[in-house]
Amino acid sequence: MHHRIVFALDRQGRLVDIHSVPQGLACGCVCPGCGGRLLAKQGQIRAWYFSHASGAECVSGAETALHLAAKRLILEHRSVALPPLVVNFRRLHPRFGLFERSKTVELPEKVWRLSEARAESRIGTYIADVAGHLDDRTEVIVEVKVRHEVEPEKAKYLRARRVPCIEIDLLPLLEESLTLQELAWHVLESGTNRSWVSNSAYAEIEAELLAEYQAWIARKSSDVAGVPRHQPEPPKQPSKADEANARYQALPDEMKRLELRTVLGLANGACWPRHLQVSVREGAEAIPSPIDVWQGATFVRFIYDPIGGREETKRFSLSHVYDWVSGRFGTSEPVRHQVSAALRLFLGYLAKCGFLERNGDAFSVLHGGLWPPARPEPPVHLAKPSTSARAVSKLTAVALRREWTWRERWPLEDVALLRASDATVRYAGAQFNAQLFVGMLYSMSIEPSETAVKTLVTQCGGIADAAFDLLKDIGVVEESWRMLRGGVEPPWRCT
Ligand SMILES: [Zn+2]
Repeated sequence: MHHRIVFALDRQGRLVDIHSVPQGLACGCVCPGCGGRLLAKQGQIRAWYFSHASGAECVSGAETALHLAAKRLILEHRSVALPPLVVNFRRLHPRFGLFERSKTVELPEKVWRLSEARAESRIGTYIADVAGHLDDRTEVIVEVKVRHEVEPEKAKYLRARRVPCIEIDLLPLLEESLTLQELAWHVLESGTNRSWVSNSAYAEIEAELLAEYQAWIARKSSDVAGVPRHQPEPPKQPSKADEANARYQALPDEMKRLELRTVLGLANGACWPRHLQVSVREGAEAIPSPIDVWQGATFVRFIYDPIGGREETKRFSLSHVYDWVSGRFGTSEPVRHQVSAALRLFLGYLAKCGFLERNGDAFSVLHGGLWPPARPEPPVHLAKPSTSARAVSKLTAVALRREWTWRERWPLEDVALLRASDATVRYAGAQFNAQLFVGMLYSMSIEPSETAVKTLVTQCGGIADAAFDLLKDIGVVEESWRMLRGGVEPPWRCT
């Protein structure tokens, strides 16, 4: 069903509510969602609302109107009440079961007074509903949720950069015929409809809860140790591995990153490898760790072997990796399926990069270096077989071809446009019309071929050779480096 539109734009583009306009078409208002003319319906029986003069069904009008009204109120008043900080902590111990705690902390700050505020403000590759500055120049963000909550990737981005952010949930108001003044109270002053997306105290409180969890494990272990002897099989003390894992989990993420960078030999300031922060489309939220940390740690544990001295090929199965990740990061049993799915996607990506050979859920390591195997560009001809026994091994890569596939989910169109405009700046010299390109790309009704994409890029004033870098920057394709091995031609080429 379509929700009732309660807020609209008048002839001057000002925001008005249904209670402050003349009845019918005389209201002179348009829909903030579709721009269509509105009628003000102010009957005796039903709650007052706007409807489209054309009789059109407008899917987004009510939501857009509420969202817009909230943002305008924040910009106008530049004062927003803050919620307490709530940290939920949940771990499933393999022997002692579920440990669940929630901590609510009253923060000294009760309200943000913004010295300036902008709507739809750019934060990295994301858009903040409202971004502003406090008097001490701290940048802060207020997100307004009606239907769409802050994406997990964006939340991680903000946490990593320590940008404080709250989210105000207005979904319950979608049915209400409020005045702007009433809405202002919900947006600016209510203490119960908002929560923190990012707050620098979060990690500290999470560490406290982790310490409680460890104390709980220790207590449970000593209880178990005190059990009478006639128990058939007295459970063991927590193993060395359990203790090491608990210590690891207690480390701040920054320490884990530093450790990984040291192991991988990444210099200060060097970029973290893209293949160790693969955004998997399923299950990542079930692993209580940032994506680069769990992927980096898994890579180090199962694949990374810079010396390359070992004779035997290293093999492992998905369930080995699951067991290790589950212990290392404390994932809980009920989300086993999600964790496995995320790991399968990540390992599949590494296989496409040429690190692994994959056979169902069994993997063998082809390449133990930090970076994917060499990518000759332009493609080299088949290397002459070397006399060295290692080099003629069946598994030696002889050539790589750059491949790409459309991502299953694309970024929102406005985000895509920002990224495309950014890319234009980087591909200097190109008279690229990002708006036209994104508009056409997002209205394609069939999957465009490689040639079609290149033609489209050219039509929009871009460089055909840069087409895939552009698509990658926009976030609509992912690339893989497919390994071609010597010896066998595909059957259809052998005729
Ligand atoms: Zn509309």
